[in-house]
Amino acid sequence: MNNIRNFTIIAHIDHGKSTLADRMLEVTGTVEKRKMKNQVLDSMDLERERGITIKMQPVSMVYGPSKYLLNLIDTPGHIDFSYEVSRALKAVEGSVLLVDATQGVQAQTISVLDMARQFGHTIIPVVNKVDSPYARVSEVKEEVAKILGCSMEDILETSGKTGKGVEELLAKVVEKIPAPKENENKNLLSLVFDFEYSNHQGMIVYVRVLSGSVKKRDNLEFKVAGKRFVANEVGIFTPEPKQVDSLKEGEIGYIVTGIKESGVASVGDTVTSEHDSSQALPGYKKPAPVVWASMYPESQDDFDELKRALLRLELTDSSLTFEEESSGILGRGFRCGFLGMLHLEIATERIRREFNLDIVVTVPTITYEILTKNGDIKTVYSPVSYPDDNEIAEVYEPWVLVKLLSPSEKLKDIMPILFEHEGVVTETETFGDDRISLSVEMPLRQLMRRFFEKIKTVSSGYASVSYTKLDNKKADVTRLDVLVADEPVPAFSRIVSKISAQDEAEQAVEKLHKILPRQQFASKIQGKAMGRILSSRTLKAMRKDVTGHLYGGDITRKKKLWEKQKKGKKRLAETGRVNIPQEVFMKMIQ
Ligand code: GDP
Ligand code: MG
Repeated sequence: MNNIRNFTIIAHIDHGKSTLADRMLEVTGTVEKRKMKNQVLDSMDLERERGITIKMQPVSMVYGPSKYLLNLIDTPGHIDFSYEVSRALKAVEGSVLLVDATQGVQAQTISVLDMARQFGHTIIPVVNKVDSPYARVSEVKEEVAKILGCSMEDILETSGKTGKGVEELLAKVVEKIPAPKENENKNLLSLVFDFEYSNHQGMIVYVRVLSGSVKKRDNLEFKVAGKRFVANEVGIFTPEPKQVDSLKEGEIGYIVTGIKESGVASVGDTVTSEHDSSQALPGYKKPAPVVWASMYPESQDDFDELKRALLRLELTDSSLTFEEESSGILGRGFRCGFLGMLHLEIATERIRREFNLDIVVTVPTITYEILTKNGDIKTVYSPVSYPDDNEIAEVYEPWVLVKLLSPSEKLKDIMPILFEHEGVVTETETFGDDRISLSVEMPLRQLMRRFFEKIKTVSSGYASVSYTKLDNKKADVTRLDVLVADEPVPAFSRIVSKISAQDEAEQAVEKLHKILPRQQFASKIQGKAMGRILSSRTLKAMRKDVTGHLYGGDITRKKKLWEKQKKGKKRLAETGRVNIPQEVFMKMIQ
């Protein structure tokens, strides 16, 4: 066990973690150079395309003449996936803190670093991409020294591109990161930090063995789920799964359980021998969803297929939640909870691609707590079930604490955006040479109005943001309905702040006016909130030339036909039936 080192790499997205991991795989001969493709550990198509890591991928490497076993868990860098990161951190003893020499320390990196320290990790600081002509090695080292309270000399310099410093880093990992602690107890105790599902092998759990060992055909059980099973196979990640005789104390690998029901294994559960009397290890708390959106199949025939897809996705993404719901127009679908906007985007994209389903996804919303006038407390996470203003006594909405790191000179462009998003600056601090760190409180609702993108744009990509949830605060919001031919279209309703209701109403009406095809009769499009029509436009009637085929000829016949057309329009107008094509729905609600 003295030969084992378990570690993870903490880095902001794009700081070169996957590329550096590639070099480690090469240096240790884990993956042959000629078989090397870039970002080997990003195995999902979506990861490779977008160049981001979504799911953690463990890998075992053998290093140096003394054959150290190095287990690396590559982790996602994006804020929505910090839950995945916390799971990885708990399964290892140390972390490499990787900072891009061209970018400097990012807000998100600091929050993950804080988490690693809470877990008691040994931290190895590294400044990466030192080969780049834009690298500011000494400034960035100063920033790292500041957040860690270490000296500049302790910080390594690496380049995943040229391979510089990679050997030194591996040597440092062996030297600094402690070997797994030896356990008195020799019974099997292992922590499930992730799992995947295979159609033919069933649930495959990723485990860190804390004590004892596990081998093929052992009789095991999930302590929390109380489910017994037989290990059909045990193995390590090379990064492909590779069967081994046994997984021992301190090691990281997988167990094939053969379990095919969903909802049995969960992250944070403990695997022990059957009938073992040990207590379950303290697990992970499942994070509460932050953002909600509904998913409907474009064709109702696909409802069962969509349900299967969601159940299947849940097997690899334990932070996804969903429940059935139905809406008049869209039919039967699901209300889904996500950890953030990127999580939503990735999950819906995976449904579309991996399951080949055409789906409609509604505008994402957050949860509101409503105290009604008759004293009930309602939790609302869909605009459709948001009550009318006259039934509401008070509304509460989630707030977030945003940490923002930015070059000082960008501050003047950032402030108006904070203001526009109802942000309240609570703390300002200088950071490094010419950078500044801000703490800002704002409604979560505002974070979802493309806040990150706007900050990125005005700061030319130099500012970075991370956030944590705060308690709910009182909100001044209302439901905005969009009416077509005097009928509210529930799928178009949304919750907006009262101050911006006018603007939002105008924008929604304008947008629908642009994309809704003309109908047989003139139809009004209106935005309504707080009991008032705030904006209105009329979509002109379509005029089909019903007489076109009667070349010249008989004028009375022409008149008759026009007459008939008019009547038809009137009848349609009276029934108020506007045909809203599916594409219009999709454009409006996503
Ligand atoms: P990750 O998001 O942290 O996993 O980052 P990636 O490894 O995917 O790298 C992000 C981008 O930085 C890619 O375009 C890489 O080609 C580039 N990159 C990674 N490492 C280096 C490096 O050492 N030097 C330079 N110049 N570019 C690098
Ligand atoms: Mg990556």
